[in-house]
Amino acid sequence: MPPANEIIALKPARTGLLLGAVAVYGVVCAVMAAPVGPFEVNGLYVFLAAWVLGIGALLVIDRPAGRFGDGGLALVKALWLNLGVVISSLYVAPELRLLLLTVPLFGVLYAALHLARRQVALVAVVTWLAYVAGDAALITAAEAPVLAEARLLLAFTVMLTAMFFMASEVTALRRAFERRRLRLDAAMQKLADLAMRDDLTGLYNRRYVMEVLARQKALADRGHVGFTLCYCDLDHFKRINDRFGHQSGDDVLRQFGNLAEQAVRSVDFVARFGGEEFLLVLVDADAEEARRVAGRLGDQTRALTVDPRHPDYHLSVSVGIAEFRPGESIEDVIQRADRALYRAKTSGRDLVIVG
Ligand code: GH3
Ligand code: MG
Ligand code: MG
Repeated sequence: MPPANEIIALKPARTGLLLGAVAVYGVVCAVMAAPVGPFEVNGLYVFLAAWVLGIGALLVIDRPAGRFGDGGLALVKALWLNLGVVISSLYVAPELRLLLLTVPLFGVLYAALHLARRQVALVAVVTWLAYVAGDAALITAAEAPVLAEARLLLAFTVMLTAMFFMASEVTALRRAFERRRLRLDAAMQKLADLAMRDDLTGLYNRRYVMEVLARQKALADRGHVGFTLCYCDLDHFKRINDRFGHQSGDDVLRQFGNLAEQAVRSVDFVARFGGEEFLLVLVDADAEEARRVAGRLGDQTRALTVDPRHPDYHLSVSVGIAEFRPGESIEDVIQRADRALYRAKTSGRDLVIVG
């Protein structure tokens, strides 16, 4: 799932449109340029060129969105846009000032789509301060009537404040949306986990290990890594249930599951295949290696405490091993392991047999 910022990231067409609008605005300002306030005409050209190029550069280097972290360069972009518009509205195109002063309001809204509330407040405050400072310079240069400027400043302040509160709503919505997305992600992860895990032991379940086997077979058939199965069945498990109760039986299943997981490497798979039957998929291992793993697991199984009140009672496991032969079906390799397991059972149990 793409992060929230990607959803509202500017598409190339919109980026181009924005860039075009800013460039046209720059040209209009340059044509209208007249030295107002502290600027000279040449100074105005340099300022406009730097501002337009700066926006272009910001749009280009911040693609793809999020390269510079969560909000990308949105804070820099919003500040750059607002300061440029505010300054040019005061000094470059005073005839357009009323209209232009609506643009920083959109700058604040843009910030709300990408940034935290604190940063949106920063954009609004810096924008306001820039306007106040610029306006003061204009009045000092005695080129603007104080009363009209004060009225305009009041109106701008009210609109900026109103826009900030609206932007706060947007950031609150974004936060709620993000929290929901995280909860949904976690729920989906849990569902995916439930679908592949066995409830009692937490091992992979039969359905999932069949998927694993299909993948491993595809790899092995193409001449990549092979695999070997260890089909494990606890011996006389029914007696444990009968003698110590079903709860103890469940405990033993969990303990055996832990032992099996510890006996294999991280690339291998351990699944509960059915009641007291487990399947180990040893990746890139041959029958000899599997025999060693199964031998170790058999030793540890014998050392398990089934019931603390009966320390002399020992559990054992029978294991049938089958190394995958490229080209054979998954059912066939499982059947070979099952037959080897059957031989282990009929030969007295607590045995490892390679099929
Ligand atoms: P063998 O050595 O021939 O494998 O004998 P066994 O008793 O282990 O085999 P059998 O197939 O006769 O019995 C398996 C028992 O496993 C029967 C069933 O009640 C028990 N079992 C299956 N699933 C669970 C489970 O989730 N919890 C518990 N406690 N017992 C289970
Ligand atoms: Mg069984
Ligand atoms: Mg059994």
